[in-house]
Amino acid sequence: MLSVSSARLHARIAALARFGALPGGGVTRSCWSPAHEEARGWLLGEIKSAGLTPWVDPAGNVFGGLGLDRFDGATPAVLTGSHIDTVPEGGTLDGALGVLAGLECLQTIHEAGAAPRRPLAVAAWSDEEGRYGSLFGSRAFCGRLDAAAIPAMAAVDGERLVDVMTRAGFDPLRAPEARAPAGAVDAYVELHIEQGPRLEEAGIPIGIVDAIVGIHRARVVFAGQADHAGTTPMERRRDAFLGAADYALKARELVVARGGPRVVTNVGVVQVHPGVSNIVPGRAELVHEMRDPDAAVLERLAGECAALARDVATARGLAVEVRPMSATMPAPCAPRVQTAIEAACAALGLAWRRLYSAAGHDAQNLAAITDAGMLFVPSRGGRSHRVDEASDAEAIERGANTLLHTLLRLAA
Ligand SMILES: [Zn+2]
Repeated sequence: MLSVSSARLHARIAALARFGALPGGGVTRSCWSPAHEEARGWLLGEIKSAGLTPWVDPAGNVFGGLGLDRFDGATPAVLTGSHIDTVPEGGTLDGALGVLAGLECLQTIHEAGAAPRRPLAVAAWSDEEGRYGSLFGSRAFCGRLDAAAIPAMAAVDGERLVDVMTRAGFDPLRAPEARAPAGAVDAYVELHIEQGPRLEEAGIPIGIVDAIVGIHRARVVFAGQADHAGTTPMERRRDAFLGAADYALKARELVVARGGPRVVTNVGVVQVHPGVSNIVPGRAELVHEMRDPDAAVLERLAGECAALARDVATARGLAVEVRPMSATMPAPCAPRVQTAIEAACAALGLAWRRLYSAAGHDAQNLAAITDAGMLFVPSRGGRSHRVDEASDAEAIERGANTLLHTLLRLAA
């Protein structure tokens, strides 16, 4: 049975890890940075030397085609891929694995002289980690990028997308032209590290993703009265921070109790105004995030949390405003792709289990234009988005071979 070269795949993972490498291990390689652009150049060279056709689209997505030199609606391609950008102080596998394993699979198929019915391509999507705009490249490819929003897109430190894209030699306003023609992609499958502990703890080598979580975020703003923190009697204070704190504790309880086994919730941003120790906070804002693979669960919880915020405010003599910020809909994975992964596991004698992805991925955009799916390999200790992110060499090889046989099935 056809199998990938594990040695070549690991050599490429090590080679890519040098771009943006940190002295203590790990990588910082945000999209459009000099390190990322060097990595892009390296990747294009690897695609070429693997015998594939390289090209780059106006959103900066890198592709390597086998039997394909661009996307058109006439020859639907089977697509795989992931991303080569990283979070700050990230690891060497998040994204890199899916791109380099995809490249390895296509090279293996090419060298074996196998002639699948459909053309194949591997993609490295721009700015998956969203320094400037979440899932930027796959959004552009799937026709979900609003051109009018591009000039305002910026990193949290203020660095503007238009500046870094221009520096990297791209015309930012042309990024939406990366949109794939209708019918260009017949199926998409992405290999990724799990980034959580479930597979490792169960001793299962392959996770077949059935859905990618939706994410609901709301800004909750409590308003009270700013007062002198020394001279105002305690019983007269309308402390907005206490409303925010009370809400944070009760919202967690509510979501865990009412949301079912898969929901997660986080308050990762809290701002207190005016934010000095000798003034009772007159205003407190927090950002409340919830994730679940079921859109109906998220919608119901969002309503219940808004009611909770009003109850907390009333009880404490405060006003409150709940402003929905963004809602990413959960993306179910296509049964056809899940079945192909299952069949690949069966052929390779690998155990698998179904799970959902608690992190966002480019596959959720692809799911809007084609049959899309994902497979996971175990992450050591469930660690990710940190410098000691790792997966065992055998786990990576199993994942790459499962991807190979999934692609062969989808393209047959
Ligand atoms: Zn990733």
